[in-house]
Amino acid sequence: DATIQLSVRVARLGSRYILLLADDRTEAVRLEQMRRDFVANISHELKTPIGAITVLAEALESAADDPDQVRHFSARLTSEAARLARLTQDIIDLSRLQAAEIVPHAERVSIDHVVASAVDENRVLAESRNIELATGRHSHAVVFGDESLLTTAVHNLISNAVRYSPDKSRVGIGTRLHDGVVEITVTDQGPGIPADDLERVFERFYRVDQARSRATGGTGLGLAIVKHAVQNHGGEVRAWSKPGSGSTFTIRLPEAEHITTPPLTPAAVA
Ligand code: ADP
Repeated sequence: DATIQLSVRVARLGSRYILLLADDRTEAVRLEQMRRDFVANISHELKTPIGAITVLAEALESAADDPDQVRHFSARLTSEAARLARLTQDIIDLSRLQAAEIVPHAERVSIDHVVASAVDENRVLAESRNIELATGRHSHAVVFGDESLLTTAVHNLISNAVRYSPDKSRVGIGTRLHDGVVEITVTDQGPGIPADDLERVFERFYRVDQARSRATGGTGLGLAIVKHAVQNHGGEVRAWSKPGSGSTFTIRLPEAEHITTPPLTPAAVA
């Protein structure tokens, strides 16, 4: 962006008047630009499933006399509609998280419970491809936060690990408590992520491999949702990878006992 916004002010310095020029691209302006980019990205992303649904509906109409074709096109229609629904839900979740509308309420949440739910949600997908979901020991860790949001974050990491891994491989999910920090680690034996892309995978709609993301039903928003959900809990998420031998994603959250000021509850905000 090569434009700058200048604000001009006149100030008095002793007996002299001076002109103050300031670059006025405040945080608000930057956020507004981010919002515009997000809307532009969304419009682009929505066009794909909407376009496919339109074409498939026309194909279905002209194939009305052929039952096999009708079955084929309606199955594809259902799958595109599901994709549109997933994308819409992810967009809503992410915009709420970015606007900090979802304030994690200070509820004590068991990390073992969060991990168990996220693993269960991915079991059918993993079993369909003979991928082992290997969980380690319980950490007995507790954090303050929103259980469903934390489950979504861990779910997204496990679902990525499964989606990008080869059949019959192993996804390891571990939790540990260390110096007041709860760590949840998801490791896979997938293709890995090149170093240049590793920094960018948390950006919304950034995909290393466009075709693979689409083929596995990705929306391109999974990791952006993880990042914001975790940050809203005062934590962070990091990724490591060795291309060819897999990736590791780690969520780090402050342990409940080590939070002196719990995150604000919606009631406290109001
Ligand atoms: P998507 O819906 O495309 O998976 P994400 O935000 O979840 O979107 O991930 C962004 C990109 O990061 C993916 O498109 C993929 O290229 C890469 N990625 C994420 N997780 C993994 C993983 N476990 N192994 C390899 N690549 C991954």
